[in-house]
Amino acid sequence: MDICEIFGCKVFNDQVMRERLPETVYQSLKDTTRLGKSLDPEIADVVAAAMKEWAIAMGATHYTHWFQPLNNITAGKLDAFIAQDENGQIVTEFSSSALVQGEPDASSFPSGGLRATFEARGYTAWDPTSPAFVREGTLYIPTAFCSYTGEALDAKTPLLRSMRALSPQALRVLRALGHRGSRLVTSTVGAEQEYFLVDRELYEQRLDLKLCGRTLLGAAPPKGQELDDHYCGRIRLRVRAFMKDLDEQLWALGITAKTKHNEVAPAQHELAPIYETVNIACDHNLLTMEVLRETAKRHGLACLLHEKPFAGINGSGKHNNFSISTDDGINLLSPGAHPEENKLFLVTLCALIESVDTYADLVRLSAAVPGNDHRLGGNEAPPAIISIFLGESITRILTSIAAGISPEIRAMREIDTGVETLPHLEKDDSDRNRTSPFALTGNKFEFRMLGSSQNIAFCNAILNTAVADVFTRFAGRLEASDDLEREVAHIIADTIKNHGRVLYNGNNYDPKWVDIAKKRGLPVLNSARQAIEAMTEEKNTTLFHRHGVLTQAECHARHEILLEHYCKVVFIEAETMLQMVRRQIMPAAVGYLGDVAGSVGALRAAGVENAALQKQLAGLSQMVEELSGHCDALEAICRDTPSAQELSAQADYIESRTEPQMRALRGVCDRLEETVSSSRWPIPTYTDLLYRV
Ligand code: ADP
Ligand code: MG
Repeated sequence: MDICEIFGCKVFNDQVMRERLPETVYQSLKDTTRLGKSLDPEIADVVAAAMKEWAIAMGATHYTHWFQPLNNITAGKLDAFIAQDENGQIVTEFSSSALVQGEPDASSFPSGGLRATFEARGYTAWDPTSPAFVREGTLYIPTAFCSYTGEALDAKTPLLRSMRALSPQALRVLRALGHRGSRLVTSTVGAEQEYFLVDRELYEQRLDLKLCGRTLLGAAPPKGQELDDHYCGRIRLRVRAFMKDLDEQLWALGITAKTKHNEVAPAQHELAPIYETVNIACDHNLLTMEVLRETAKRHGLACLLHEKPFAGINGSGKHNNFSISTDDGINLLSPGAHPEENKLFLVTLCALIESVDTYADLVRLSAAVPGNDHRLGGNEAPPAIISIFLGESITRILTSIAAGISPEIRAMREIDTGVETLPHLEKDDSDRNRTSPFALTGNKFEFRMLGSSQNIAFCNAILNTAVADVFTRFAGRLEASDDLEREVAHIIADTIKNHGRVLYNGNNYDPKWVDIAKKRGLPVLNSARQAIEAMTEEKNTTLFHRHGVLTQAECHARHEILLEHYCKVVFIEAETMLQMVRRQIMPAAVGYLGDVAGSVGALRAAGVENAALQKQLAGLSQMVEELSGHCDALEAICRDTPSAQELSAQADYIESRTEPQMRALRGVCDRLEETVSSSRWPIPTYTDLLYRV
C-alpha cells in the first residue's frame, strides 16, 4: 500500500485540475479557492465539461449536489449524466448550470419557518473552495443550500460567510504588526472523531440503537472501563480490518486520516485527521462519518456516532482543534521560541480570550444537541461551563505583561526517567490539562465540548465571527498607535482585566468549579434546552448581523430548528422506550414471573414451602407492577405534551417531565434485567454489545 499513490485518487484535486483545465481557467479557479476571490461565471462551462469527463472515467454515472441541511447529516439527490440528443440518441451530459446551481425539492428540511411550503423551493450553489469527489459511482459536488429568498438553510453557508468576515480583519491586524505578505487568512481545523463499534447482528436486535442511536435501557455490565485496559490497547483483529479499510477509503477521498486508537470505553475508538482549512475540514468530517457508518456495515459491524450510546461508561465527543493561518504559512497562534515577544501570537490569544468570554453562551450552544446532555458534566467530558486553559507559562506571560513587569522566562527542563539508556525528554513548562473545554495545546486551541454526531460548522462559524469582531477593534487600536509594544501591552492588560474570568487552569471536573464559575459570573448552562436560548440573545444576533453571517430572521429560524430538534429527538426516544417496554421487557418479565410462580406452586403441591423463592416471586411481582405504573405515567406524559405551536413550552415540558419519567422507567427495567433469567431477556445486554466484536 502506497499512501502517496492512492491519496486523493477520487478527488477532483489540484493535480487533476492542472491536467484537465486550460491554464487560464485553472488560474481563475485557483484564485477562488486559494485567495477567496469571487468565482468567474465564464469558466463554469469548461470546468463542468472537464469534471464530467474525469468523473465518468472514474466510473461515475451520476452527480449530486451534496449539502448540509440543519440536522447534522448531509443530503443530496442523484442525477444521471444522461440526456437525449435531437436524434433521440442517448448521450452523457453535465452542463455548467448543473454544476453551479441545483434546485432540490427541499420542502422537507428543517427551515425554522424561513420557507413556507408554498415557497418550497430550495437552491444549492456549488462551493468551489471544497473539492468535488467521486464515491460509489457518483460525482459529489459540495454545495451551499439556501431558500428561494436567499436565507441560509444549511450549516455551510454561515461558515463560509464567517470565513469572509474573518480574513480582512485578521489581515488588518497582521499588517499593523508588520506582516505584509499575506493575502488570505482562514481558520484551520482538525476534528478528532470518537465512535463505538458493535456487532451488527446484535445492533439489529435493539430498536433503541436502530431508531435513536443509543441504548435507552441496559443494566451496567459487571466490567466497564474501570481497569483502564481499553485506551490505546491492542486493537482487535476485526476492528483492525475495519480500520484498514476505513483508512484506505478516506485517503482515496483526500482525507488525511492520521491517528487511530482504542478509546477509554470498551468498543470505543478514535480517528484524527491532519488539520485543514475549516470549510474543507468540516466537509471531510461529515464524509468521514458517512464512510465510518458504511464501512462498519460492510464489516458486519454498526458504528455508533451518538454522544452517549451507553449509560455509565464514557460517551463520544469530537475535539475541534482550531487555529488561524495565512495563505503564506503564518500560524497566528504559534507561540514561537519567545511567546513573550511575539505580538501577533499575544494579540491573537487575547482576541480568542475576549471572544470566548463574551460569547461563551454561543460557544456552549454550539455543543447543544440532545445527545450531549447525557455526556457533558459526567466524569469524561468538560462540564457545561466554558472556560479557557492557557497553561502556567502562557498565563504568567500575559499577567506579567498586563502588570507591566517583564515576564520571567523559565528554560525548558528535562525529564529524568532514571534510566541512562533512555533518550532525554524535554519537559513542557506546563502540563496539558485534559479537563478544560477550551485548551491551548501548543499552537492551536482544542474545543472539546462538541458531540460526536455533530456538524462542526457552527462552532467554527461562531469562533470565526467573534474573533473577526474583536480583531476589528484590535486592528483599529494597533493602526492608530505609534508605539506597538505599548499598545499590545495595553490590549493584554484590558483583556486580563475584562475577560480574565474565563481563564481557568484548574480541574474542570471538580464540583467546586461550578461554584467558582458562578461567582465569576460565567454562564452555567446545564442542558441543551437552556443553551439554545443563546441563539436569540440580542448581543449574539447583532454580532452575526454585524458581520453578515446570519440575519435576525436566520437566527430566529435556527433557534426554532434547535428547539424543534430537541423536542422531536426526546419524543422519539420516549416512544421507542414505551414500545420496547410494552412489547419486549414486560412480556419477558411476566413470563419469568410465571416461571417462578410455577415453581412455587409445584413445590407447594409437593408440600414444600420455599421462602427464598417466595421472596423472589414477591419482588418480581412488585417490579412488574412498578414497570406497568411507570409505563402508564410516561404514556400519559407523552399524550399531554403541549403542541408544537408553543415550542418553548413544549421544550420545557419535555425537559422537566418527559426526561425524568424516562429515567424512572429505565430504572425499573434495569433492575429487572438483573433478575430475569438470561434465556428470557429479549434484547442483547451491555456485555453482549460491548464485548462481542
Ligand atoms: P493533541 O495531542 O494536543 O491532541 P495532536 O498533535 O494529536 O494534538 O493534534 C490533534 C489534532 O489537532 C490533529 O487533528 C491535528 O492535525 C490538529 N492540529 C494540529 N495543529 C493544528 C492547527 N494549527 N490548526 C488546527 N488543527 C491543528
Ligand atoms: Mg487531542
